[in-house]
Amino acid sequence: MKAHDGIYLDGAWRPAAGRDVIEVVDPVDERVIARVPAGDAVDVDAAVRAARAALPGWAATPPAERAARLTALRDVLAARKDEIAETVTAELGAPLAFSQAVHAAVPIAVAGSYAELAATHPFEEKVGNSTVFHEPIGVVGAITPWNYPLHQIVAKVAPALAAGCTVVLKPAEDTPLTAQLFAEAVHEAGVPAGVLNLVTGLGPVAGQALVEHPGVDLVSFTGSTAVGRRIAAVAGAAVKKVALELGGKSANVILPSADLARAVNVGVANVMSNSGQTCSAWTRMLVHRDRYDEAVELAAAAAAKYADRIGPVVNAAQRARVLGYIEKGVAEGARLVAGGPGSPREQGYFVSPTVFADVTPDMAVAQEEIFGPVLSVLRYEDEEDALRIANGTVYGLAGAVWAADEAEAVAFARRMDTGQVDINGGRFNPLAPFGGYKQSGVGRELGAHGLAEYLQTKSLQF
Ligand code: NAD
Repeated sequence: MKAHDGIYLDGAWRPAAGRDVIEVVDPVDERVIARVPAGDAVDVDAAVRAARAALPGWAATPPAERAARLTALRDVLAARKDEIAETVTAELGAPLAFSQAVHAAVPIAVAGSYAELAATHPFEEKVGNSTVFHEPIGVVGAITPWNYPLHQIVAKVAPALAAGCTVVLKPAEDTPLTAQLFAEAVHEAGVPAGVLNLVTGLGPVAGQALVEHPGVDLVSFTGSTAVGRRIAAVAGAAVKKVALELGGKSANVILPSADLARAVNVGVANVMSNSGQTCSAWTRMLVHRDRYDEAVELAAAAAAKYADRIGPVVNAAQRARVLGYIEKGVAEGARLVAGGPGSPREQGYFVSPTVFADVTPDMAVAQEEIFGPVLSVLRYEDEEDALRIANGTVYGLAGAVWAADEAEAVAFARRMDTGQVDINGGRFNPLAPFGGYKQSGVGRELGAHGLAEYLQTKSLQF
């Protein structure tokens, strides 16, 4: 795999000050496929300085011109779609067809949505005798995870650029090649030097330095709740704005009137997709007791079909963590009906698609984010019980409700403490606000709500 041996700073690839390297591993065969620099605090400082220097010019660039650069970025990403898919497959292990359909296609749609929003957003409005200006917040420190490597980057950088902000990006250790490809695309799109800077590096080193840097005005972070909590504490002490997209344990609520087979099959597909490494995955399936046995049978059969279809999880530590949760589920008394502990293959970080039945709401497999291909099926007595279980975790990122009558599903969804709910399957909408209630996060990504995170308001009174 092609890799840059420098960091992208002020419009060019330059040697990193940090002497360490990060080895990029293909999770399918465990081979090292590339090495990239592990940037340190000196690199982060240089990148923040470049972003600060570029800020006045980019902030003053008319929105129509910023929109033109984002349109060009969308076009470059679209032209390099196959390369993006191959790169994500190489470093994340996702099957190529999934990388093409999701990992490459979704960020292109999101970049396109911000090209349009940059052109049409009311950056200036009249409120009575005032004119309100929506101005860029400044230099953004963007820290992203590996699970949807390009999507997570575009969901931050595209709105930041649309808003007139400049960015220092610190991508996940496991997927730096996709981030390098993205920086190349930004360059090709004619975005001025310093507007986007890329420092590959370790979270506790480069990530931490970025969060602590006084030249960063907003930290936009997607990752685990544990790291998000630390970032919020550091940023809070400096009165620095944060946007946090964190973990989830979303409920798929199948009401008694629903088409059970469809709800279960789509639900299992949702969990197994990306080998379960999706923050918004519906990892808890809630089924009425009268239909519970039938649902478990359907879920086990559906999961078995994914055994040869899903890729590995991202690395050895992640596999160990997921297998640890599977062992814990067994120890807690949940009943395995598909998959189970142990690795299904000798090579690669594979985990069998796993389904637990007889899961009770207090079990770890019903409360904690596993981030692997593991579904917990829970039984409820009535609608109030279903709601109590659905809302009974510290998370609130996503969810699903199924019912014969759409209005019935909507009424239930309105009572869920969660940021996004799919009704009878739903469909991805790149303009819909995405983000968490409770400990799933602070702020929203995507669409106009995502753009607003990167803006601050000034009012002039006349
Ligand atoms: P992680 O928190 O370990 O890492 C995320 C990023 O933070 C990486 O770039 C990492 O290098 C960096 N980081 C780690 N320690 C840091 C520190 N001390 N200071 C600054 N940066 C630091 O998460 P992960 O394992 O890469 O990703 C999986 C997690 O991400 C899951 O919990 C998942 O739910 C969450 N996630 C959430 C969303 C969402 O939109 N809500 C989307 C995808 C993933």
